[in-house]
Amino acid sequence: MVKVVKFGGSSLADADQFRKVIKIIKAENDRKYVIPSAPGKRFSDDVKVTDLLYRCYEVASKGEDITEVFSQIKDRFNTIIKELGIELSLEEEFNKIHSAMVHKAGRDYAASRGEYLNGIILAKALGYKFINASNVIFFNEDGTLDFEKTNNVLSEVLKEHEYAVIPGFYGVMPNDTIKTFSRGGSDITGSIIARAVEADLYENWTDVNGFLMADPRVVENPYTISKVTYKELRELSYMGATVLHEEAIFPVRTAGIPINIRNTNHPEQAGTMIVASSDSYDHERVITGIAGKHGFSVITIEKDMMNSEYGFGRRVLEVLEKKNISFEHLPSGIDTMSVVLATEAIEGRREDIIEKLNDSVKPDSISIEDNIALIAVVGRGMKNAKGTAARVFKSIAEADVNVRMIDQGSCEYNIIIGVSEPDFKKTMNAIYKEFVVE
Ligand code: ASP
Repeated sequence: MVKVVKFGGSSLADADQFRKVIKIIKAENDRKYVIPSAPGKRFSDDVKVTDLLYRCYEVASKGEDITEVFSQIKDRFNTIIKELGIELSLEEEFNKIHSAMVHKAGRDYAASRGEYLNGIILAKALGYKFINASNVIFFNEDGTLDFEKTNNVLSEVLKEHEYAVIPGFYGVMPNDTIKTFSRGGSDITGSIIARAVEADLYENWTDVNGFLMADPRVVENPYTISKVTYKELRELSYMGATVLHEEAIFPVRTAGIPINIRNTNHPEQAGTMIVASSDSYDHERVITGIAGKHGFSVITIEKDMMNSEYGFGRRVLEVLEKKNISFEHLPSGIDTMSVVLATEAIEGRREDIIEKLNDSVKPDSISIEDNIALIAVVGRGMKNAKGTAARVFKSIAEADVNVRMIDQGSCEYNIIIGVSEPDFKKTMNAIYKEFVVE
């Protein structure tokens, strides 16, 4: 059995957190490949090492003195080393990085050093081999991941080492410069490595117990989701649930490797298991989660006999396409068609859009309604459990909320509901209470 384990910044923010991480890794021989983030926040208004590195880069690029911010970075690492009591000096590395910064090394190079140095420390503390990500993670000229090369090299290199630490977040460009993924990208490195070694499980250790059934800022104390499919997770994440980097799903998904979100501060909790597919679901709760997103508008177009007019929908969408506007949903009736889209996408060009739509489809009326929030009720169980939609709408009606739009995906694992912004919280809570049996 092989497990790939990734630890986020808060899991490696100081020596105490490092000790928890080392204990977790050593608790199971299967935890063979370890991907660390850079040290994150130790307390809420602390600064992440990655952000200190970006700051250092900014200061250097203005030609100003980096001594102060650089010494803060050094301090973070030196304190960890000292408090862990390991025999390690990073002085030489610090000198190299300092000189590269002064000579205006790239922004991504600067940011990547947090993971690089943390990886060296963690490898030393564990007694594992350190493998620099710039030797195994490759980007194409256009900045996308060179998946094939990465996968081939990684699987070859890791065959040679039963246990290793590979820093997250960065890799190398064809011209040998360092490039990072977008923020939070160590999740992606972990996923790529899990794929390359054909891991049985990708454990992603963070500071929460997993994905919650709803946003805790909206619903009080929501339950943790114990199992979620990749597809459900896509829906929930797109609608606002965050824990895992969006792009981290793809490498493991195609290989059918499950991801387990775990809490470094509560390793006794089973966390959330993300799986390729599952026939089982919680029969009491039926739904997996509820997520919501604000800031939508609905363009409603009415025209008598619309349904017998060929190409009507295409012409509407063409107007939006020409303006590079993507839409979210397309609920329609016999003689009406509505397009739900992000308000910010139409800001400043409403008149123009209406004019173009008038020219193109000659409707009887067009209106735009703003301040719509979308709520996604997601669950693989909805397909089999009869009456789910009825329960959703009954609970909303009982909360005295007017539904502005409904859309159910044909795959039957989500129902999207549009409500006006002020009703958002009330609706989320009504649906949650309907399904979650206390
Ligand atoms: N350290 C990087 C960041 O703060 C990457 C990561 O933590 O995944 O975004």
